Amino acid sequence: MADRIVVAGVPVDTRHWIGGRRVASVETFTDHSPVDGQPIGEIARGGPAEAVAAVAAARDAFPAWAATPRAERARILHAIADGVDKRVEELAIVETTDNGALLRSHRRGVMPRVAHNFRFFADWLLQLDHDDFETRGHTNHVSWDPAGPCVLITPWNAPLMLATWKVAPALAAGNTVVLKPAEWSPLTASLLADIAAEAGLPAGVLNVVQGYGAEIGDALTSHPDVRRISFTGSVPTARRIAASAAANLTPLSLELGGKSPLLVFADADLELAVELAVEQYDNAGQVCLAGTRLLVEESVAGEFTRRFVEKATALTQGDPRDEGTDIGPNIHPRQLEKIDGFVQRALGAGARAVIGGHRKDGQYYEPTLLTDVAQDSEIVQEEVFGPVLTLQTFAGEDEAVRLANDTRFGLAATVVTGDPGRAERVTAQLVAGTVWVNCFFVRDLRAPFGGSRLSGVGREGGTWSFDFYCDLKNTVTAPKGWKDHG
Ligand code: NAD
Repeated sequence: MADRIVVAGVPVDTRHWIGGRRVASVETFTDHSPVDGQPIGEIARGGPAEAVAAVAAARDAFPAWAATPRAERARILHAIADGVDKRVEELAIVETTDNGALLRSHRRGVMPRVAHNFRFFADWLLQLDHDDFETRGHTNHVSWDPAGPCVLITPWNAPLMLATWKVAPALAAGNTVVLKPAEWSPLTASLLADIAAEAGLPAGVLNVVQGYGAEIGDALTSHPDVRRISFTGSVPTARRIAASAAANLTPLSLELGGKSPLLVFADADLELAVELAVEQYDNAGQVCLAGTRLLVEESVAGEFTRRFVEKATALTQGDPRDEGTDIGPNIHPRQLEKIDGFVQRALGAGARAVIGGHRKDGQYYEPTLLTDVAQDSEIVQEEVFGPVLTLQTFAGEDEAVRLANDTRFGLAATVVTGDPGRAERVTAQLVAGTVWVNCFFVRDLRAPFGGSRLSGVGREGGTWSFDFYCDLKNTVTAPKGWKDHG
């Protein structure tokens, strides 16, 4: 196995990063590009031995990093952000080659946001405090103590973005990290290890292990030295991780899938509603937050559908490196099979494809809109994670809310209405971690993020991230000369 491969002109180390050095594995796995289906390179295929070594490195590095003053930790995180900023172009092209998402959005949105993740949590750390308070003359002082080694496991749909959204607060809090990126998009995590080392992050504070989740995952999540596990991915994997973490009762943060509704009321700005609906095809539909269930008030459904079809069929599907492309490929042939399986079963059960419904050449799937779908059908209830939307109609507010909430998930919801009173009534009743009104995907790191029901456990973002990554301690000190005569 070559230790380094060159991806679109960028050298990428294919080994693990453990304890401040590169470590190879005897076995490798082949990483393919969704852009053309071709192999990119052989990547180290870690197993239990690498998991144990990485956790040991994180455990050994923990005391010194936890004792590093906050201002110094923040300085290093800012230096990592600088390193990301300097390498935006490289990170963007490597990520696009690896996961097929649009180069223009990696370049202009995602990678600058990766840098922002580090800056934001570094700055938040510095103003993180609870006011002390008094109990019968005694002071209560609440401190945010680092928890210990954290295992962070991430998916392929937004690899570096989602990884750094965990890595940055975990490190800021004074923890050490073992990051396990998804096997379908392992490359930018390796570049992050380089950037962190160049920024002066001490050896062992950030470790990156590569491999199949099924082979390396359990050794990471069941390890008794691990103090936190943060996972973003699917519900079945979350169940396995929760079972594995149960032995040590390791606290978990779970960011999982969704089947989010997008509600369009008759009083909505229809142009806006259509624009927001078509946006749900972004990243070829591989977005956890996507509002894949379009719920449209009956009286405007015909006009909405007409305008939607016009806009959706004008989208350009193709090479994600081209500036003019709107929809790129799906991540993997297996994912395409899964998407097509959902669609064909839905069509077989009586659904009608208003647009799409087929695979295309290469790893592409036609943007698809299905109608005539039953509320209890698989296509309405299960996450597809591809460019597939359903459209159902409703007669009024009550029915809209009932359909929106009739799901096992609760990640997000979008409400499009011109009536602020209705927006208030409807959002109050929706079960979702994030609700958008007349907008979509507006995110602020200060806000709590997470899902209800099967969409997740816990919230991250702002203080909520530190709440998870820290052990909160209350120290009660008696006043001088005080004796408790109880
Ligand atoms: P996945 O669950 O298959 O894999 C996610 C990660 O878990 C990968 O790194 C994988 O290697 C690892 N893994 C697999 N088995 C494991 C095990 N037994 N132990 C430990 N780790 C294991 O998910 P995916 O297909 O990569 O991602 C798509 C899913 O992620 C979708 O359901 C999507 O909705 C969800 N997602 C959620 C959010 C969110 O913030 N809520 C964001 C992005 C994606």
